[in-house]
Amino acid sequence: MKPLILIVEDEAALVTMLRYNLEKEGYRVCDAGNGEEALALVADRKPDLVLLDWMLPSLSGIEVCRQLRRKPATRELPIIMLTARSEEGDKIRGLNTGADDYMSKPFSLPELTARVRALLRRAQPVPQKGLLTYDDITMDLDAHRVTRAERPIHLGPTEFRLLQFFMQHPGNVFSREDVLNAVWGPDIYVEPRTVDVHIRRLRKALNTDSDSDIIRTVRAAGYALDNGQAA
Ligand code: CA
Repeated sequence: MKPLILIVEDEAALVTMLRYNLEKEGYRVCDAGNGEEALALVADRKPDLVLLDWMLPSLSGIEVCRQLRRKPATRELPIIMLTARSEEGDKIRGLNTGADDYMSKPFSLPELTARVRALLRRAQPVPQKGLLTYDDITMDLDAHRVTRAERPIHLGPTEFRLLQFFMQHPGNVFSREDVLNAVWGPDIYVEPRTVDVHIRRLRKALNTDSDSDIIRTVRAAGYALDNGQAA
């Protein structure tokens, strides 16, 4: 079946335009005009992706995002935040709340549909099969499950791809650009700082106080999955 996209936006004209363009791209679309309605629709219709406006009446987009991330059923639901704010600080705040991507209004429709396509692709079950292991981390690609020292780790679609990429090349140092090309794809423009935000989220999910930090930051170079015991 075609992917279902939920538009959460209180500007009716923007909803109409988004709906028209997404349906033209072959997606099914449902929409909500406020946060409460959005949460109810997510539970009811189980969309494949959410376009979430930041400024909504009563419950804000940020709060909706937080609530969706708190529930196990929607922890991995792909979310793109839409906002009139374009400050870097807001962008980072949006991503830290759990959004997978972020677009400032006014945005170009081809760019939005490219990002929708890219995020849906990232969220799809990884075609590769099997188990990846490194140190005490295990990734089951079939079951889409990650554990560290047998503790279950819950990752969003972007963090899952990110970890998979590192697990396939343990010990190698990758620049932000390498990571962007491998995880987001070369056809989409994402600011390099976005990588840092997702690395931070991945670290937070993987590391507990008792574990050592398994992701090494290499100054001016990038990141590596590294337990410090490489031969
Ligand atoms: Ca709005």
